This record gives sequence, structure tokens and C-alpha cells, in this order.
Amino acid sequence: LDAISKTDPKICSFITVDADQALAQARAIDAQIATHGTEGIKVLSGVPLAIKDNICTQGTRTTAGSQILRDYVPTFDATAVSRLRAAGAVFLGKTNMDEFGMGSSTENSSYKATRNPWDPERVPGGSSGGSAAAVAARECAAALGSDTGGSIRQPAHFCGIVGLKPTYGRVSRYGLISYASSLDAIGPMAHTVEDAALLLNAITGADSHDATSSGQPTVDFAAGLLPAESLQGGSRPLAGRRIGLVAETLGEGVAPEIDAAIRAAARHLEDLGAVVEEVSLPTFSLGLPAYYVLALSEASSNLSRYDGVRYGIRTAGATDLPSMFCGSRGEGLGGEVKRRILMGTYALSAGYYDAYYKRAQQVRTLVQKEMNSALASFDALLTPTAPSPAYRLGEKSADPLAMYKGDLMTVNVNLAGLPAVVLPVGFMAGAGAEGQDVQLPVGMQLIGRAFDEAGLLQLAHVYE
Ligand code: GLN
Repeated sequence: LDAISKTDPKICSFITVDADQALAQARAIDAQIATHGTEGIKVLSGVPLAIKDNICTQGTRTTAGSQILRDYVPTFDATAVSRLRAAGAVFLGKTNMDEFGMGSSTENSSYKATRNPWDPERVPGGSSGGSAAAVAARECAAALGSDTGGSIRQPAHFCGIVGLKPTYGRVSRYGLISYASSLDAIGPMAHTVEDAALLLNAITGADSHDATSSGQPTVDFAAGLLPAESLQGGSRPLAGRRIGLVAETLGEGVAPEIDAAIRAAARHLEDLGAVVEEVSLPTFSLGLPAYYVLALSEASSNLSRYDGVRYGIRTAGATDLPSMFCGSRGEGLGGEVKRRILMGTYALSAGYYDAYYKRAQQVRTLVQKEMNSALASFDALLTPTAPSPAYRLGEKSADPLAMYKGDLMTVNVNLAGLPAVVLPVGFMAGAGAEGQDVQLPVGMQLIGRAFDEAGLLQLAHVYE
């Protein structure tokens, strides 16, 4: 909490800091130790975490970055949160985000813009930018984020931390405020692969509150990581692993320093014993337009619940139902959210459905098939996380298409429902606001087979 009060005025990671409840949780653990000793203390007991503000926390305001939910205090915990609570974790507060997860820089928050701790003139990425910045600035030990099209992974890349988007269904979405239900996933953001594995251990597993949560058996993801002794110099712990470097994600349109960092990471994986081969995924670039049709269509449906009746603020002075709906939504929702509701509604309209929504679903199937068939001959696919490192505040906010294009390398993973981890592989030089040198993190993305988080984390851990 001291770190937050010192750092957050500058970084702006948190929408809500709930010191009272964090201290109450911590004191309960102290009391437990005082009476029962350390017996019963679990691996996450007392570990201070931050939670993205679209994940419901009982008794702590949850806004999803929107004014329409500015007074919303959930009466229940999201399943991921209740499981972390049961594991002894302490919740410091709720982190800033693009409104309803719609954005890639956290500038679409209706509260404030979060700053990148490596250069406060730059964005932390998004939409889980608050969680990423809070971890990178050491305001918390780790955090939860959510990822619909890259929102855990791209901010992890921009802020130099580890981010894991689990397989669709691996973590219950109960209590996650929906953006696009067929793509949304909750996942850990942390300093190390092991920390991410420990968080995943706590939040994973079937849940009767979420019919899309999977009954796939969960394993101990942290115990499966290779011990440090086996990673000593000269050993080739990745012998037998095959990694596909996705040709379409390198070269033109990618910052040369990022291209070079990913190729260097590929060579390092080879030094560790893996076989790295280039693989071509010809439908790769079709994922982005399909994603924006599907995500916005689902969003237009999901966001119809904010009607001034059941959730959130209600406009003052409405005289009838239409003026209440329009007034509440008009006042409560931000510009990017309105743009997306309009586009999504258009794509789903009678007469346009076949041309847009249906075609996008067909493209989704193609992308899915192509990725899965590549993963039949590779253990993981390697790509950059985004074409550029963290950019300056305001640089892309006037141009939504430029912002959307930055999601090219992450959205296919959600279309295919696959797990992917981003981890830091180096830095590139940038210029700060006064022309001074700044170091900008670069993260690589490893995409795994469905439900093979164990193998994926093992790979990432060896690299790390
Ligand atoms: N930037 C993407 C979008 O705006 C992804 C966001 C997310 O994963 N929540 O849709």
C-alpha cells in the first residue's frame, strides 16, 4: 500500500485502492499464524494482488473502466477471485482498463490514462494496462487481467512482464464483465513464469456457474516447471521440442528491433535444444478483420444489459422508457464503446448478417483449423506480440484503425481459443519526451496447443 501511494500518483494503475479490505485480509492471516502457526498457510497466503476492474469483487467497486458502472459494488466474487481469496491472496484494489476491455492502450478508460512505468510518456498497452503497469512498477506482486484479443499479452509486452492467456474454458468467466463471450478469458500477469503458474493453479478448473468452463483435469502448473538445477549451463532442456516461427508475423510492418529480438529469441531456444523452423500460416492476416466483426457483434449484444434499469447509473429526468434508455446509455457509455455497439449492431442486422457476421465466423474456422494443424507438428508457435513497442500517449487515440491494427498478432489466439504466454526477451532503445534515451521492453509470444498450459509454461520457464 505504501508503494501504491508513492508510485500511483505518477503511473495511475488503480481505479480503486481498497486499503481497508486488504488490511483486513492481511490481519486475518496474521491472526491465523498467531493461533495456529504457519500450518494451513498456503502458497498465496498474504500475497498482495491487483485485480482488473472488469472482474467482480464482492464489496469492492467494479467499474469495467466505464461511467455507467461508476457506482457498481458487486454482491459476489468472480470465481477466479473467490478461488484466490480461498488461497489466501490479499486484494489491494482494482486496476484501470479500457472501457469494457475495448482498446489497446488503456486510453479508452473513462477515468484516466495509465502510464508506462518504463517511460511515463508512453502507454502501458491495453486493455489490461492498469494491471500490467501495477506489476511492472512493483505496486503488487502479480495481477489478474482479461484477454479478448490480446489484452493480457500486449500490455505484458509493453511493460516487460509475463502474461498468460489460458485456453478458452480453462478459467471460469463467471463474474467477468462480458465483452465478447466467445473470446473472453481471465489470466495471470506476473513478474515470472513461476508466479503466473501459481496464479493459474489457483484460478483454474470447472465451475458450475460458467457452462463454457472446461472439465479438463487441471495439473499443478508450477510443479511441472523444470527445476533450476536441470537448467545449468550447457544442458539442452528443450531437446525434442519443435517450435514454429510464424513467417507472416515477421518482416514488413514490424519494427526491425522487434523482428531482430524475436529471431534472437528463436536462436536462444535452439541453443536450449529446441528445433525452430519457419512455418507459414497463409490465413493469418484474415484474423484481424474477422475478430473485429465478431467481437463487436458480441459486444453489441452483451452491452444491451446497460439500460438504466438493472445495472449502473440511470439518467435523471427521464420521462419515459426510451428517454431513460437513451439518456442512461448516452451519459454512461464512452465514444469508443458507442462506436463498437453501432458497428456490431450493423453487422448483425437483417440483410447484413450473411455478408459480415457469417463470413467472419467462416474465417474464424479457417484460422482455427490452420493454427491447429500447425500445432500438430509444432509444440508451440513463436511470434512477436505486437508490431511495435509501447507508443506515446495520444499517438494512436485519434485513429481507431491504427489502434486495431496493433492487435494483428494476438487476436487469432482468441479466435482459436488457444493458450499463449508472453514473456520479456529484451529491450529496444526509444526516445523519451525530452529526447533522453529510454529502454522499451520487447516480449515474445508463444502459442500452445489447447489445454497444454503445462507444456507452454515449461517452455517459457526454461527460456526465462
Ligand atoms: N484491443 C482489442 C480490442 O480492443 C483486444 C481487447 C481485449 O483483449 N480486451 O478489442
